[in-house]
Amino acid sequence: MPNPSAPRNNGKQQDPALRRKNFDEVAHTFTKEEAVAEADRCLHCPTHPCQNACPVGVHIPDFIAFIKAGDAGAAVSEIMKTSLLPAICGRVCPQEKHCEGHCVLKAKFGAVNIGGLERYAADTARAEGALKPPVPAASTGKKVVCIGSGPSSLACAAELRRAGHDVTVLEALHAYGGVLRYGIPSFRLPREVINKEVQTVQDMGVKFKTDVLVGATIKLDELLKEYDAVYIGSGAGLPMMLGIPGENGVGVYSANEFLTRINLMQAYKFPQTDTPVQVGKHVVVLGGGNSAMDAARCAMRLQPETVTIAYRRSREEMPARAAEVEHAQEEGIQFEYLVTPKEILQDEQGRVTGIRFTRNQLGEPDERGRRRPVEIPGSDFVQPADTVITAIGQRPNPTIAKTTPALKTTERGVIALNEKGETSMPGVYAGGDIIRGGATVLLAMNDGIAAAGRINEYLKGK
Ligand code: FAD
Repeated sequence: MPNPSAPRNNGKQQDPALRRKNFDEVAHTFTKEEAVAEADRCLHCPTHPCQNACPVGVHIPDFIAFIKAGDAGAAVSEIMKTSLLPAICGRVCPQEKHCEGHCVLKAKFGAVNIGGLERYAADTARAEGALKPPVPAASTGKKVVCIGSGPSSLACAAELRRAGHDVTVLEALHAYGGVLRYGIPSFRLPREVINKEVQTVQDMGVKFKTDVLVGATIKLDELLKEYDAVYIGSGAGLPMMLGIPGENGVGVYSANEFLTRINLMQAYKFPQTDTPVQVGKHVVVLGGGNSAMDAARCAMRLQPETVTIAYRRSREEMPARAAEVEHAQEEGIQFEYLVTPKEILQDEQGRVTGIRFTRNQLGEPDERGRRRPVEIPGSDFVQPADTVITAIGQRPNPTIAKTTPALKTTERGVIALNEKGETSMPGVYAGGDIIRGGATVLLAMNDGIAAAGRINEYLKGK
């Protein structure tokens, strides 16, 4: 009989006082005993609401049953029927919004820790040599290229390869993984976990090439001569600007630049690495999403005196994963809610000295149901700061669209799809942040998987 009333196990974590000074992983993987006990809490609901709420439909009750039976290899094989990046998703998916948010135990005893169990299955099966890449179908003789190596392209490439196509991934940077590598820090997602998940896709026979910026190194039209179909998963890597005075001051970073320096270029090891990063005594991060949490927690590890996250709405409306907000608070990061930045103040050398904010109150809900911030007249105040990191959103990189006149985009700059999920160019498909303008790993993967299905159909008729 399951034991649902046992308290949820959130898993062990590195002590906040220690971890705020290092880039080692915060959360630990369950031991076998912990995993079996947590799996034992699952009621195996016949309607499986958790599975229905998962964007890629992971067979959650089934994989949990394998863990309960002590078979991590079978558990990960079950997950990999629909998701090929289980060690990544177990670590970074916003489970509270998807699977765990729909667990029937949530209100009374706490949801089953599905993310922790997924991560356990992947890590354990891999360590035991029981994580096997899916075997591709017989060769179709068709060639497909996926642009970008983020979760969307990785998922698309793996599905296309599974169907027997010859698949190549082209990546602009010198390393694979997209935001997983340059955005999400190693203390949330260790680099070897990304390497191993990419290796699984390589082991299926997908070819990878770095340092190819499509639109500059090679044009999309040229790729269409060499390949039977193209998938664009080039993400949304262009930071949005505040548009306020002082934004060009010395000491202002976009979260994108700050995180890329630290995560991709390992600037926190400078001078052993080539790229430096500088924070002063008082860091203020503007924003309330995952980028803001990651930037603030990276900044804290560089050991300034204070790190503050300033957000224009309240805690309730913050889009970041709940676990990241809690971890940030535990690490000593301060939160200033309901404030809008008006000006970044500078000294005569152009160095940042502070930010002038106006206080807000919450007004009516916007089109997404989040209550709008409404400024309170006369409530301005100055927060001292010598480093400001802006994390207010990202837009698609325009390189491919600018160099491909036939590829239609919307006024937001995202690639436009018709009701059948097709771009304006035959044989060209797209998904992930390049069509959404910023979403989650699982939604990006789901787009890649869905597009692979459409590409399969397209290639059958070719
Ligand atoms: P990306 O991951 O952006 O990958 C796109 C890739 O394409 C990049 O590697 C880029 O270099 C490459 N590329 C771009 N242009 C070209 C070109 N012209 N030619 C060749 N290659 C090109 N989501 C979660 O679910 N959980 C989280 O905890 C989370 N944390 C996040 C933290 C940060 C800092 C950020 C920025 C986002 C976070 N997200 C999180 C969102 C999630 O990471 C993205 O939604 C997801 O990575 C999008 O995947 P993608 O494959 O569409 O694009």
